[in-house]
Amino acid sequence: MYTFCVRDKESTVYAAVAEVLETKPHWTERRRAVTVSTVSGDRERSIAGGTLRVNLVLGERNRLPFGKLGHEPGLKQLVNYYRGSASLCRKTKLVSILKTSLQCSCNDVDWLPTSFVIRPANNNNASKVNHCSTSRDWLRQLRLSKLHSDDREEFQACWEKTRQARQGSVWIAKSSSGAKGKGILISQDPAELVAFVDSQTEAHVVQKYIEKPLLLTGDRKFDIRCWVLLDHEYNIFMMREGVLRTSSEPYIADDLKNVTSHLTNHCIQEACAQNYGKYEDGNEMFFKEFNRYLQDRYNKSMEDTILPQIRHIIRQCLTVIKEEVSTEGLGYQSFQLFGFDFVLDMDFKVWLIEVNGSPACAQRLKSQLVEGIICLVIDRVFPPPSEPSSLNQDSEDASSI
Ligand code: ADP
Ligand code: MG
Ligand code: MG
Repeated sequence: MYTFCVRDKESTVYAAVAEVLETKPHWTERRRAVTVSTVSGDRERSIAGGTLRVNLVLGERNRLPFGKLGHEPGLKQLVNYYRGSASLCRKTKLVSILKTSLQCSCNDVDWLPTSFVIRPANNNNASKVNHCSTSRDWLRQLRLSKLHSDDREEFQACWEKTRQARQGSVWIAKSSSGAKGKGILISQDPAELVAFVDSQTEAHVVQKYIEKPLLLTGDRKFDIRCWVLLDHEYNIFMMREGVLRTSSEPYIADDLKNVTSHLTNHCIQEACAQNYGKYEDGNEMFFKEFNRYLQDRYNKSMEDTILPQIRHIIRQCLTVIKEEVSTEGLGYQSFQLFGFDFVLDMDFKVWLIEVNGSPACAQRLKSQLVEGIICLVIDRVFPPPSEPSSLNQDSEDASSI
């Protein structure tokens, strides 16, 4: 009755969604998605340039054929990404869009550590002095330099101001599309940070480092991952269960080269930390356990102190990009799973660190996540034959925020 195709070989989440759909009699997998030539109309071909004739596309993030969707009259289509969501998921774009929204409205983005976008000087047209023979050349050059200019001067000024105000002098440089803790430098020397970016090929975010994070038993740093499902009607659901990715080495504030003490990425801890797995299985602590820690040690709870801040940040982020990514008026619908990452400081303030557009999932939570995607989105767009489309409801594992 309905057809789907899976084009993402990497995503364990969508592989698991496909596995569940295969067991349902009303779903059939199209191994090679059929595209139909828009010109001849009647000839089926598997080539680029036509329309994609399948109900559900579980595609690969950066290679989705959005242009081929929504053109077949009578064919309802759903795809697992929002076009343009990179505005949130590339680190430099996130900083730019949040800063713009701050300037344009009364949005208060006090949960993003102060951040600047810096581009490598070699790729930075602003720093090139070219000869302009005509005024048109000059205008072009000016436009280009505006387009490519970066925030290095603002960063240097802010670094100085922050240091003088005794608000810390440590900053972190992160490459825009970097992942798994790669392409990162933590330093208190602004010249070193800028030189580091200049030696790279990609734009970086240079961000205030949260120097006093809340620590776990053993003085260990952690970050928090929340999985968020944005459905086809732009409703936001957050998985009730989330995970702390913990370091298994003590946090040493002034040993900035000690990666396992400062970077809590799972792969860094697994590859480099001596005590990997000593405190928590796989250096992962789930919300229930963290809640117990908060209560025992600080007489606080996730629900009172942490989750309201997290929900507020998620809502604000997704509101900022809504106009840009909305599928309203298009012939297809989208949904997307996001991984929001946060760091908590010792005053229990939540800071947004990054948003992942194609998050991996803790093994223990995978089936809940898959269940959520199927019942909150897929079944509502493509109702199973016996069950009419139900109203928007929280699932057991995710709540609307
Ligand atoms: P990646 O995409 O490589 O995971 P992140 O922005 O998540 O990049 O940074 C990697 C890790 O570095 C985080 O998990 C966190 O432990 C640490 N980190 C990143 N930004 C900050 C910050 N502003 N303050 C403190 N720690 C940070
Ligand atoms: Mg990332
Ligand atoms: Mg991360």
